Amino acid sequence: MNREDVVKKIKDMLLDGKTAPWKAEEISLQEGVPVPDNITAAVAARRAFVEEKSGHKFHHIVMPEKPYHVGYRCPNDGSLWTLAADDTYLRCGMCDTPLEILAEGERHKPLVNNYIGGVEDYYSYAGEVSVNGDVSKTFQNILCWGPGVGHLGISVGCFKLNKYGPIEVKVSDWGIAARNLSFVFDTESERQKARNLIQQQLPEIISRITRAHLADWGGEIDNVDFLYKQHHNDRILHCCFYSRFENHRGHGQNSHAAGMAKNIIDDLFRTKGITCRLSVVGMGRDGDLKPSPRNRRGRYVSAQQSIPIEDYEKSIGRPIEDFLSWIDLDYQGVTEEIGWQAYTGMGGEIIPAFYRTMKCNPRPYLVSCYQKVYAKTRGNDLIFGVELPNVEVGITSSPEGIIPPMAREALKMAGISRAKEYAAAAAAVTLAGEFNFATLHVQERMYTGR
Ligand SMILES: [Zn+2]
Repeated sequence: MNREDVVKKIKDMLLDGKTAPWKAEEISLQEGVPVPDNITAAVAARRAFVEEKSGHKFHHIVMPEKPYHVGYRCPNDGSLWTLAADDTYLRCGMCDTPLEILAEGERHKPLVNNYIGGVEDYYSYAGEVSVNGDVSKTFQNILCWGPGVGHLGISVGCFKLNKYGPIEVKVSDWGIAARNLSFVFDTESERQKARNLIQQQLPEIISRITRAHLADWGGEIDNVDFLYKQHHNDRILHCCFYSRFENHRGHGQNSHAAGMAKNIIDDLFRTKGITCRLSVVGMGRDGDLKPSPRNRRGRYVSAQQSIPIEDYEKSIGRPIEDFLSWIDLDYQGVTEEIGWQAYTGMGGEIIPAFYRTMKCNPRPYLVSCYQKVYAKTRGNDLIFGVELPNVEVGITSSPEGIIPPMAREALKMAGISRAKEYAAAAAAVTLAGEFNFATLHVQERMYTGR
């Protein structure tokens, strides 16, 4: 069979569910395509499969001529180097000695597991997932995870969870942006006068800053809150401006809006003779680039599935209490180690992989990586869920930066065209990854080779 026929045969097998995408390399080898061409044929077959599943063609997520890596060893210090086949710098990165290629059987592998294209950012296929609730859709999971097998776990997790129907998702209609102003006074009475003045002028301030900085992006002020704090002699007044956006991230717009509010407030203080010692943007109070357990920034999303306890006990081969014990000990481990009442598990890897793929703003996505996994029993069902309380995402371009062509293609192929869908897909793959890992751990199969 020539290579084109092998590619078509594997694609058809994938579409018919006769094999799994990550087995394509093995099948093309069995069909007589020699190493490393079997990898090229496998990647081509997976691409054709994903194109049919998504209904879109690849244009920007390209397949390099040699979509695999080559293994080398440094003869000087023994270090191992795994390099893309198109890398031309074939020397040790530590001592600059020319590298020696590994033996034939161990030198070639796909750039990443389940690779489907992309240079530098290597895209993997991670199955598909169906959700319902606030978003009803089936997403193709495309992830820049890296060389690990995490995306295979997501693939399996999605399949296992969708056996019981779509994953239920709940997503806020709006994403929140927050920017905090801080004013320092020497007396409490001066602070109180300042607060009353701001409060009284708020409608006018809001109308001016909305016109100037928010309206073009469909943003509006959602809330302005006040907080009194004190540090020794400093009587602090925090005044946080929250705005909300449907599809735009709005972080920059909201920051400029708050900056304009500061200028207006400073003028008001001068006119009304209020003595304010320091007037600044106090970002520490608005959760800037810090994940937060409350929904202070971004968008709340949760994903949940219920599974008959009887089925799940059969799958793990032990009582449900053992599974709940694993969840409890892991929850305790994470909360005590990081010192927060939070549970950030594998989501710390899954959510960044999702952001790397879609390249929407924010690029520093730490604020969005906070997650809480929960598991409980209700009647005869196991309820397994995850909450992401502050997913920030701008699905449109913005003054904060463009979404590059490769990433726009990934969004389209994944089936994501709204910020709500982005959040729903992120939560669903996070749930699936956590579920698969938790199941493997309690089965004692994770990292044990069992
Ligand atoms: Zn070396």
